[in-house]
Amino acid sequence: MINRRRLLGVSLGAMIFGSGWRPIPVAAEAFEVTHTDAEWQKLLTLDQYAVLREKATEPPESSPLNAENRAGIYVCAGCALSLFSSSTKYDSGEGWPSFWAPLLHAVATQEDHSYGNNRTEVRCRRCGGHLGHVFPDGPKPTGLRYCMNGTAMMFKPGAAI
Ligand code: FE
Repeated sequence: MINRRRLLGVSLGAMIFGSGWRPIPVAAEAFEVTHTDAEWQKLLTLDQYAVLREKATEPPESSPLNAENRAGIYVCAGCALSLFSSSTKYDSGEGWPSFWAPLLHAVATQEDHSYGNNRTEVRCRRCGGHLGHVFPDGPKPTGLRYCMNGTAMMFKPGAAI
C-alpha cells in the first residue's frame, strides 16, 4: 500500500537532491534563461564558463573592458541582457571594470560568505550568471562599487542609457 507521507518524502528528496544526490541550486529554477550545464559549456568560452557558472574571478588588470571608455552598454555574456551603461563606469583602480550602478532590473544580489568573507555577490537577473561583487566604497551618487568580471560581459558601443 502506498503511503502518502512516503510519496511526499520521495518527491521532496528528488527535488532537493535530484539524481545522484547532487544538490540543485533552488534559485536556478527562478531565472528566465536556463540551460543545462552541458549546454552552458557549449555556449560559453572556457573563461566565460568559469566566471559565469563557476564563480571564478578573472585576474586583475586582465580585462580589455578596463580600458573601454566609449559610450555604450555592457551586456551579459551568458544571455545578452543589458547590465550596465557606460555612463556609470569609472576607474576604481582595483583592476576590474567598475560601475556605480547597474541598469534597472539588470542584476540580482545575494550574500556570499565564501572564502571567509562577507561579500554581496552580483548575478545576472535573467540567467543567474555570476558577474562579480558590489562593495559600499564607490563614488557618488550611490556610494556603491560594482566590481565586475569583464569576462562575464560584452560591450556594445552605441548610445549609453
Ligand atoms: Fe545573463
